[in-house]
Amino acid sequence: MTKRDPIDYRQRAYSAEGHAFLARPPRLFIGGEWVMPSDEATIAVEDPSSGETIAQIADAGDGDVDRAVAAARAAFDQQRWHGLAPMEREAVMHRLADLIEADAELLAELEAIDNGKPRTIAAEIDIPRAVSHLRFMAGWASKSGGRTTAPYTMPAGTMFGYTVKEPVGVAAQIVPWNYPLLMACLKIAPALAAGCTVVLKPAEQTSLTTLRLGDHLAEAGFPAGVVNIVTGRGETVGERLVRHEDVDKVAFTGSTEIGKRINRAATDTLKRVTLELGGKGPVIVLPDVDPADIAPSLAKASFFNSGQVCVAGSRLFAHRSVFDRVLEGIAETAGDWAPRPSLDPEAQMGPLVSGEQLERVMGYVAAGRCDGASVVMGGDAPGSGGGGHYFSPTLLAEVSPQMSVVREEIFGPVVVAQRFDELDEVARMANDTHYGLSAGIWTHDLSAMHGLAARLKAGIVWGNCHGAIDSALPFGGFKQSGLGREGGLEGVQIYQETKTVMIKL
Ligand code: ADP
Repeated sequence: MTKRDPIDYRQRAYSAEGHAFLARPPRLFIGGEWVMPSDEATIAVEDPSSGETIAQIADAGDGDVDRAVAAARAAFDQQRWHGLAPMEREAVMHRLADLIEADAELLAELEAIDNGKPRTIAAEIDIPRAVSHLRFMAGWASKSGGRTTAPYTMPAGTMFGYTVKEPVGVAAQIVPWNYPLLMACLKIAPALAAGCTVVLKPAEQTSLTTLRLGDHLAEAGFPAGVVNIVTGRGETVGERLVRHEDVDKVAFTGSTEIGKRINRAATDTLKRVTLELGGKGPVIVLPDVDPADIAPSLAKASFFNSGQVCVAGSRLFAHRSVFDRVLEGIAETAGDWAPRPSLDPEAQMGPLVSGEQLERVMGYVAAGRCDGASVVMGGDAPGSGGGGHYFSPTLLAEVSPQMSVVREEIFGPVVVAQRFDELDEVARMANDTHYGLSAGIWTHDLSAMHGLAARLKAGIVWGNCHGAIDSALPFGGFKQSGLGREGGLEGVQIYQETKTVMIKL
């Protein structure tokens, strides 16, 4: 590890544009315009790098949710969006992508000061991915049709049968705080391509970039009510959306616990539900790879976005013959991943999103210690005197399968390492979880790679890489990691109903 200067945990200065945005009064985006919330309740916005309150957003109430749903319902029922030519809808979505792209600097700054992720990472990853996803999905507006099919039981030429793909209706989309703008765009893009209208609820911790998105939605030329944004709490705004009679579909990304609750609540009105939930992703290192070569990638798999990633590689399984060298290699990256304020240009990892999240992560690590795990690296919360929610990248070893650090999703920069000897054994260990979102395999042995990929119960399996997610390919979880798939054509189909038409000739 090279020697580095001590870290200055004080947040850096915001830009003038950033200050101006933070000074805006709390508003909701309903019916194509910024409106006053029905009362004065607000939620404080905190910069997790400093712990300081930097703005206020509206803490919307039931009446606000009802207004937003009514706007989306009217836009849908009057076919203001779905009734347009697909070419036109596609063009509006591209205009939105252009506006986000042109505003990337401010959006990256807002994301950094709201979520805590490094501005450089938001600028390199979050904003460009949001843009490319909108562009990819825009194409489906004109390309997902039905088909004609000859009926099976009827003589040829007596019955004309065809299917039509119709938008499901009003979609309530509830997103988490780990990738605020990216998640918002991942959600709205396929819904808009399918012709749905939307009520979007950002997480209460991180609503700033979604609010900025409202400016761009207004300018891009979406008809009034096609996308509405309501800020507020999960147990109020989220709950009301999920139970609302006029909402046809709920798409949620967040914790498995809340996902189950949402699925139950949506059952009364039989809403279509898709859920992207938690994970406890295994990363499996076979004996043929050079630990020094892959250690930086393994560290990134676990510590990227402060480990606040549903596909984080949070359970490391290394073959006994390379185990010690893999751990040494990861420990050598500690300096690279040392948390820094989000506006520090050197930051690769920022603070955790909130004091609550820091408590949670510290609680898990303390429980792991208590259960007998050894701390190979990290385990501490540096710079805490300054008010920021920093936690060091942490590697735990000597863990056993029943420990909470091994079983539960921590959602922080914490990875637990275990040894294995045989492929059968590691497949069993990797699958010993209620989750089934992602898995990683590191080997040059093709047969072992495919053999393991076939046995792992995960919605996405990576070979010799981690975290590769592409708009053209489906994404979602097995088991308690979710319901349905986002991305690709599958991601559009979750916003469609299939109608069958049969006409006697
Ligand atoms: P986390 O535990 O990581 O904060 P959550 O699953 O609690 O994630 O939150 C993800 C999103 O779900 C946020 O937008 C939050 O406001 C929302 N949410 C939380 N509780 C509910 C609920 N009961 N109904 C609907 N949405 C909710």
